[in-house]
Amino acid sequence: MESQENSNNNKNPGTASGQNRDKNRGDSQNRKPSRRRYYGRRRRDYGNDGEKSRTSKINTSFKKISIVIPLYNEEESLHPLTTEIKKVMSTIASQYEVLLVDDGSTDSSLKKIKEICRIDRRFKYISFRKNYGKSAALQLGFKEVNGDAIITMDADLQDDPKEIPNLLQKLDEGFDLCSGWKRKRQDPFIKKMSSRFFNFVTRVITGIKIHDFNCGLKAYRKDVAKSINVHGELHRYMPVLAKWQGFSITESVVKHYPRRYGETKFGISRFFKGFIDLITVTFSTRYINRPLHFFGFFGAAAFLAGFAVLGYLTVLWLQGQPLSNRPMIFLGMLLIIVGVQLFSIGLLGEMLVHNTSDDTVYVIKEKS
Ligand code: UDP
Ligand code: MG
Repeated sequence: MESQENSNNNKNPGTASGQNRDKNRGDSQNRKPSRRRYYGRRRRDYGNDGEKSRTSKINTSFKKISIVIPLYNEEESLHPLTTEIKKVMSTIASQYEVLLVDDGSTDSSLKKIKEICRIDRRFKYISFRKNYGKSAALQLGFKEVNGDAIITMDADLQDDPKEIPNLLQKLDEGFDLCSGWKRKRQDPFIKKMSSRFFNFVTRVITGIKIHDFNCGLKAYRKDVAKSINVHGELHRYMPVLAKWQGFSITESVVKHYPRRYGETKFGISRFFKGFIDLITVTFSTRYINRPLHFFGFFGAAAFLAGFAVLGYLTVLWLQGQPLSNRPMIFLGMLLIIVGVQLFSIGLLGEMLVHNTSDDTVYVIKEKS
């Protein structure tokens, strides 16, 4: 992490913090040493509540911060949300832009968005012709923005923009992605429980030790957001996609509020889709270049089990027992056939990978 921090500082020699540091150094020559140290410390204070003194702003190493907000039918929340974002971002020294991605809303969200963008040029929007889903909105948002750090948050006022400085601080500590952790989740009981179970299973399967994979509030370094390919409903697995591409991830506890207007866009089906997506994520990030390891493992296991079953039955047959009344023989045959098929699929996959190998799947950290 130390090396990441260093490289981060080197990468951004002319950033806001760098410039302010130089400015502080200049100012300091005219001030008493004790005062100088005091101001220096205040300027690096990220704080928790956004109540910054009117004179000092929070410095980050990011020249520009982009906020991407996917939204679908959130007309009532948009004005209060953008007011709150402006308030918080005015306490941060970096420039910022907000991209509102309207995911095919059928209410007056688009009208509200246009009003917001008309009065403040830092706010931009994209509107989909139909509802493509949160992942698609995020993917396009990541492509369109050009900040050095990218924040994502939901539009329904459940996420608190006051947490943005804390997330940015984690990136400044050297992490590539910081995921919010809704420790006190303000949702109906059933959703809280299913989410807890979902997070537990994801933790076990992926081995990634964070508590809340699917928090809308997250901060990404530009590189992460630009190299993640999020489609389907994979937005639930952003930390997994990032981690398996070699990025460092962490989490930060964030405040969470009950939904004030409208209703959740993800019903109980989220639960089942979530687990199917986990298989997709596992396969597409871990095994995409070595399918035989995946299919070969299950194929070999099935084949060996079938072999053992038939071997056992053969011994019985040699001892003179008839096999005509042993349904186990079908199990043994089935396991062997399935095993051979799985293995063959793995081999075919392996041949495809070797014939179409493509270097776009490797995420490059640096180049000379
Ligand atoms: N959302 C979206 N497209 C969709 C569904 C949801 O852009 O198809 C947005 C939604 O407007 C909100 C965020 O994704 O800003 C999270 O959705 P929601 O609050 O319904 O999810 P929950 O908090 O219930 O997990
Ligand atoms: Mg919500």
